[in-house]
Amino acid sequence: MLITTPAVILQAFAYGDTSRIVRLATQDHGVQSVIAKGAMRPRSRFGGRLQVLSEGVAQFHYRSTRDLHTLSAFDVTDQHVVLAGDLRRFAAAAALAELVLRTGHEEPQPVAFATLVETLRALGAAPSERVGLVSLAGLWHMVIVLGFAPVVDQCVRCERPLGDRSWFALAEGGLLCPACGRGTGTGALGAEDQAALRAFLEGSDAGVALPAPHVAAHRRLLVRFVRRHLTDDAQLPALSFWESIG
Ligand SMILES: [Zn+2]
Repeated sequence: MLITTPAVILQAFAYGDTSRIVRLATQDHGVQSVIAKGAMRPRSRFGGRLQVLSEGVAQFHYRSTRDLHTLSAFDVTDQHVVLAGDLRRFAAAAALAELVLRTGHEEPQPVAFATLVETLRALGAAPSERVGLVSLAGLWHMVIVLGFAPVVDQCVRCERPLGDRSWFALAEGGLLCPACGRGTGTGALGAEDQAALRAFLEGSDAGVALPAPHVAAHRRLLVRFVRRHLTDDAQLPALSFWESIG
């Protein structure tokens, strides 16, 4: 079956002397692995188009009995060059790609695909001083879209209202009220940090202004949440790199 679908390249690496294996987020067929035969040859029809984060229309021969399908064309619609030219934007985009790749499967995920494309655009367009907040909003929103929402509107343990200070319980996947949270040994989230977290979960950084150490703490929280709840404690090099440079 020949499939034609909008797609984003999440990962690409050499295979043998002349081919490339590419992991694609697709609009209609989830995450798929394809092989671009001869892509490394000088006059390949793929040229230099199979770059990570490139967005385009992929055409591949799908066989349900195989895990690796044969790519016949990839027409780039947006190479997202702004992302490749700026380390912080690129780190955030690569972290997003890793999140989609590690949680991906072959079932259709059109909302996740749309969120991926929107977030890549937002990362490219963000003013330099907002890149850290825009990346948190994009990554947290993707966590929600993938179906792993943390509880942030009441205490995850006793369901009482949260106070001006609350504590994030990683194992339980949500915020704790003062009665439950005291003595957990983790740092408290003040009212502004809680409001910022709720905004990020909706994919927005509007109105969020936090000191840099708080932004770093939000990055650390997101990476720990993803590792614990989405990827079975796997190593996540791109997310770890994004966490370290912000
Ligand atoms: Zn409680």
